[in-house]
Amino acid sequence: MPEIGSEVALTSDPRLRFLEFYRSFEDRKGRLKYRERIRKMILLRQRSLVVDFPDLVAYDKDLAKEVLKAPTIFIEAASKAITDIVKIDDPDYAKSTVFYARFRRLPEAIPLRSLRAEHIGRLIMVEGILTRATPVKQQLTEAVFQCEACGERTIIAQEGIVLRQPARCTNPACGKRGSMRLLIEESKFRDWQKLVVQERPEELPPGQLPRNLEVIVRDDLVDRARPGDRVTVVGILNVKQERAVSGAKLSTFSTYLEANNIEVAEAGLGEVEITSEDERKILELAKSPDIHERIIRSIAPSIYGYEHIKEAVAYQLFGGEPKVYPDGVRVRGDIHILLVGDPGTAKSQLLKYAARLAPRGLYTSGKGSTAAGLTAAVVRDKRTGEFYLEAGALVLSDKGIACIDEFDKMDNEDRASMHEAMEQQTVSIAKAGIVATLNARCAVLAAANPKYGRYVYERSFNENIDERKLPPTILSRFDLIFVITDKPERGHDARLAEHVLKLHGGTYVEEEGVIPPELLRKYIAYARERIHPKLSVEAIEKIKDFYLEMRGRAEGGSSPVPITPRQLESLVRLAEARAKMALREIVTAEDAEAAIRLMKTYLSSVGYDEETGSIDIDIVMVGKPRSQQEKILKVMDIIKMLEESRDGEPVPVNEIYEEAEAQGLSREFVEKTLRRMRNDGLIYEPRTGYIKRT
Ligand code: ADP
Ligand code: MG
Repeated sequence: MPEIGSEVALTSDPRLRFLEFYRSFEDRKGRLKYRERIRKMILLRQRSLVVDFPDLVAYDKDLAKEVLKAPTIFIEAASKAITDIVKIDDPDYAKSTVFYARFRRLPEAIPLRSLRAEHIGRLIMVEGILTRATPVKQQLTEAVFQCEACGERTIIAQEGIVLRQPARCTNPACGKRGSMRLLIEESKFRDWQKLVVQERPEELPPGQLPRNLEVIVRDDLVDRARPGDRVTVVGILNVKQERAVSGAKLSTFSTYLEANNIEVAEAGLGEVEITSEDERKILELAKSPDIHERIIRSIAPSIYGYEHIKEAVAYQLFGGEPKVYPDGVRVRGDIHILLVGDPGTAKSQLLKYAARLAPRGLYTSGKGSTAAGLTAAVVRDKRTGEFYLEAGALVLSDKGIACIDEFDKMDNEDRASMHEAMEQQTVSIAKAGIVATLNARCAVLAAANPKYGRYVYERSFNENIDERKLPPTILSRFDLIFVITDKPERGHDARLAEHVLKLHGGTYVEEEGVIPPELLRKYIAYARERIHPKLSVEAIEKIKDFYLEMRGRAEGGSSPVPITPRQLESLVRLAEARAKMALREIVTAEDAEAAIRLMKTYLSSVGYDEETGSIDIDIVMVGKPRSQQEKILKVMDIIKMLEESRDGEPVPVNEIYEEAEAQGLSREFVEKTLRRMRNDGLIYEPRTGYIKRT
């Protein structure tokens, strides 16, 4: 139990001491800080006064100590003292309102995994990420009961979870049992909400499950924070008795935090601590002429090869700039990357490495480690039956990078909300009475396996992707897609083997110029926070020339489309990211060229259409190359023509084959096309061997 009534507390009334503090505390500029805050509070019709704890420490160290030790009594006193002041300034407002003293910036934040019995009853501060929130509920604080027989009224203050009600009428003359009815209109309620705060993913020791803490917020603290927000909560650690499934009370208690204050942390340098010594190192590093190569080389140095993928990941870690156009349209700055490749090609390793480097990085599997999956979900607590809005991986990595392994294994609901999450960078949900839109402003680094387990070189990219798992609508949201194949090749294999065996043998010496991961992480955080580059005229010119040149190839309508405006936006993001890597505020022609080079690598590997020998972005955007789309249309035309010649009767399949062959389409292609059309519901088979359009 917290000890109450220390010497100091006995010698003077804490309420008077707080009153003195509010009245006379002067900040460094000599202003009466809390007098001003209270005046403002009254003006804005607010009910809470926020006290910066260091001020209290500076003013009255003993009083501050007491607040930490016996918070219930002292916060009550601090709150009553507010009323005392408001009474003078605005007596009417004071009469009708309950005020709260809320504290922030306590001396230390206690990690969730270090919470112990010693903290029970104390005022503590914790930091974490808000993962769940119930809808706002109304909690009864003062119940008014009336006897149905004699009309006698009685008021009962409510404190606990269980409703307190009189067993019999309180009027001795009546005393009837079970006759007291609750008068809802006359009773008093206040807003109530239950939240769950979880350890931040980047703070989690490797291989550990994140710890959770239940937080109860009331009154003006409800709906201050949403799932996905990084929060700092000040509150009293409390316990509640656990119950067995049968309802029997157990001797164990679980802890929860009764919130006194909750604040949403602004993303930024706060999370990655950068000292002035660090800053010196960062600025020094940025001066090296080969800074880009050094950063790229410092990404997963234990993984051999994949230079262009590492380059892409480097750009992703820094990210482009989000833009809001004058008409309110927002365009993301985050760069999304997909790796598709054979098993055992270090995809997972690369993702894990990126998640560790990125400020607010998170690594998860497509299946999602929680019920909320990749986006968000409304979940029901098994024990209490309460509904919660729970944030998934993309929301939790808001303003960071979500590394999603086994991306093709995500479930259908996630797939549906992935479109919104990746482009608009929000997740909307409406279920079980909970309606919310959460932020998911993160970059996605995803890895997926090819359709047949291994990448088949003889087939084009779209044929190697399972369209039901990764439809073109999702693929088209990636800025860059890379295919990793595990093709045996002697020279490459020898170098890889040497590299990996050196690592295993322990004789691996760090390559020269590799930046230590801790410093690189700080460098990235610094650049993301401080540097917001703008395109130079030369950079714009370069990107425009490239775009026009590529588009020029497609003029004439039927030739493949090598590039679309989506890639244009991607190029800008990549070039901006490259400028950020050198802590440069201007995007140079050189940045644009590097972005174009990388884009070409992607287009020529993924967008290459074997049939026409040219680049065709429709392979990604539409799921089939233009050359095939045309042939498919041809097949459709043949069916239509034959159907018309038979007055709309079903067409025998053999006739379709014959006609198609006459037009130069192979039987194999037509067979495949018919199968796909049937799957897409364009045609059906009324009887075997006959086809009809729907
Ligand atoms: P994937 O996720 O692509 O199936 P993993 O990331 O699980 O593959 O990698 C399998 C193992 O092979 C890992 O231990 C990884 O370090 C090793 N490996 C594969 N390719 C390389 C490479 N290029 N350089 C170093 N190690 C590699
Ligand atoms: Mg893997």
